[in-house]
Amino acid sequence: EDWQERGAAVSVRQEVDANGQTVSRYIKKGVRDFSFGNTLGEGSYSTVVFATDRQTLKEYAIKILDKRHIIKERKVKYVNIEKDTLNRLTDHPGIVRLYYTFQDEQSLYFVLDLCKGGELLGVLKRMTTFDEECTRFYSAQILDTIDYMHKRGVIHRDLKPENVLLDSGMHVKITDFGTAKMLKTPRVDSSSNGILPLDSAELPQEERASSFVGTAEYVSPELLTDKNACKASDLWAFGCIIYQLLAGRPPFKAGNEYQTFQKIVALDYEFPIGFPTVARDLVERLLVLEPARRLQIEHIKNHEFFDGITWGPDLWKQKAPRLK
Ligand code: ATP
Repeated sequence: EDWQERGAAVSVRQEVDANGQTVSRYIKKGVRDFSFGNTLGEGSYSTVVFATDRQTLKEYAIKILDKRHIIKERKVKYVNIEKDTLNRLTDHPGIVRLYYTFQDEQSLYFVLDLCKGGELLGVLKRMTTFDEECTRFYSAQILDTIDYMHKRGVIHRDLKPENVLLDSGMHVKITDFGTAKMLKTPRVDSSSNGILPLDSAELPQEERASSFVGTAEYVSPELLTDKNACKASDLWAFGCIIYQLLAGRPPFKAGNEYQTFQKIVALDYEFPIGFPTVARDLVERLLVLEPARRLQIEHIKNHEFFDGITWGPDLWKQKAPRLK
């Protein structure tokens, strides 16, 4: 029941009261406030459905989870992690925004940004590979979003092209925070009235992940050897994504998970002929076994590969390049 009451499951409506005063009313949204349409996709524990807010006509994607199934499969923890991390990451265009959560007897509902462009993986598969310009644009938006996440104390831990969705303007929206890790709550600095960015140096030892999380091809070597994921683990995955956009396949891929893991810990990968030199240099500085020696976000932003990119809000005002 706690699940239902916390979070952002309200909308604010301005109303004029009997005295002519404007008052804000907080209204809890529920299943009845939406009309449901086509299924957009299915996950192992969820169905995502197109929906429209009956009042505002705004379109959303609603993720519906069957409570009995979630409990039976022991996924309650992951559902809560997804909700809690999304509620911490509400003000960046590169994150799928969670607007409301509610439930009925049978199901949990997450009202999310609608991503009409689908998964980056699907787009890549249709194109086979991306050219350098497209790779630069999409990977810059992904990096800007990782930077925001990390500053808000969230490690994604499962970054891959399937978890990068695209909105109607083909701008990036990262999703799937069910296996994310939340670091210490960002401190609120009363003097500046803002949230202090979390610096990795001031963080306590990031908790050890007791079991494998992530997807074999993008998993970092430190998770395999020390069972320890950190912010740099997301940058390993980021390196794999840049490689994949340009090469059309991830750098570490084998017949089964075990063989893939062996390749990762041995840094056993090759660049295809014709892989752009500057991008190769960046990937080589990201796919570094020792997480502390991997290029850090500020240095990635300044890498020659991203020459011409303006970081921050302007990156999101740009028109997406035509796919090539
Ligand atoms: P699994 O849980 O098995 O890993 P998943 O994480 O992809 O799968 P969901 O998050 O439920 O599961 O997503 C199911 C499908 O719905 C995905 O394939 C995705 O393409 C689509 N989808 C998810 N979120 C949105 C969204 N906000 N807008 C549009 N489509 C979405």
